[in-house]
Amino acid sequence: MSNVYFGAARQGSLSAGETLPCKLDLILDRLRLRDRVQGETVAPKMHLGGNVGYSTIHPVFVRRVVKAVRDGGGAPFVCDTSHGCQSAAERGYTAETLGCPIYPTGGLDEKHFSIHRREFLNIREWRVGGAIQEASFLVDLAHVKGHPSCGFGGAFKNLALGAMMGPTRSAMHDTNQFERYWFPERCPDGETRRRIVESCPLGALVPDRDKPDGLHLHYEPCNQCGRCLRVAPEGALFIRRENFWAFQEACAIATHTVLSTFQPGKSVFINIANQITPVCDCFGFTGMSILPDIGVFGSDDIVAVDTATLDCIAPHMVFADGLPLEMEAQPDAGHPFQVIHGPYKDPYKVCEYGESLGLGSRRYELVDVMPARRPGRAGAAYIPAAQP
Ligand code: SF4
Repeated sequence: MSNVYFGAARQGSLSAGETLPCKLDLILDRLRLRDRVQGETVAPKMHLGGNVGYSTIHPVFVRRVVKAVRDGGGAPFVCDTSHGCQSAAERGYTAETLGCPIYPTGGLDEKHFSIHRREFLNIREWRVGGAIQEASFLVDLAHVKGHPSCGFGGAFKNLALGAMMGPTRSAMHDTNQFERYWFPERCPDGETRRRIVESCPLGALVPDRDKPDGLHLHYEPCNQCGRCLRVAPEGALFIRRENFWAFQEACAIATHTVLSTFQPGKSVFINIANQITPVCDCFGFTGMSILPDIGVFGSDDIVAVDTATLDCIAPHMVFADGLPLEMEAQPDAGHPFQVIHGPYKDPYKVCEYGESLGLGSRRYELVDVMPARRPGRAGAAYIPAAQP
């Protein structure tokens, strides 16, 4: 069982000391980050977002991590994909605001990487960014949000995609195309194919560009509503869990590959669950929040930190009014991230796969670093508020 240190977004009183940046400090203390980074080259890996997005991790948080590393005698550099780094200053991320340099994980043109050979479905090799590989200590600093491929993005997703180079990221997204789902011999009629395409309200099914009798399923917008299956002839089209889960398994393998470049005990995992939007920060904009702010989580165990984050989100209702009108909530689909992305995008799958690869444990103890308490100003002789 692993410890997951938690600071809730909810405050007991109107005090700066009870807000998330200060609770992050307490979590860094509990992780003993300062004691562990003496002489280390430390990579806080985060998602710097893109374009006009402003719900990525605020520099206030990043700066506290960087300061803790410097206080402990480490040499920090924040890193992300080249895409995220090149426009980072537009969103407030500079060496001055963060307190350390910002480097693209694979260099500006993503040509600085190391190749790890490992077969999984369509993938033969995994290209890990050279800057990550060269760091001796990792701080996985992840913003928690929904994700159209796997339901949710947290500590796993931050490394799985963000530490890999473009060709690997693309191949990972193609894993859900690996198992066949369209059988044209069962649907030779073009008019029926047109009706199948039109049955999808989310635009997830389109004619295949390369095959006249083919259909292509975009897994990202598909919420598994099943409308297309009502139109398709039997056996022509399949919407299978396994196709959706392939991406999650790829994320676990990618993360395992990245973490294999660090010595045991040389990585910590932090999830910041605020401004939780429906889709990934890659989209380059910030929509409305679809869940309440939850808090900050930190652990030495990536499986435990993502599991605990998902468990703390699970009891909350999705703010349906926060969803873009083009998305469709399914209230009975399960976890809030399944409500917005569909039942087969089970956000826990990446934790299951990660645990099976030996990356950590789904059993954890949640340690609240500052439980919220109601201020005890009113005593036994409490006088109810008067109506004005
Ligand atoms: S299951 Fe629903 S969302 Fe997915 S392709 Fe079919 S109609 Fe579209």
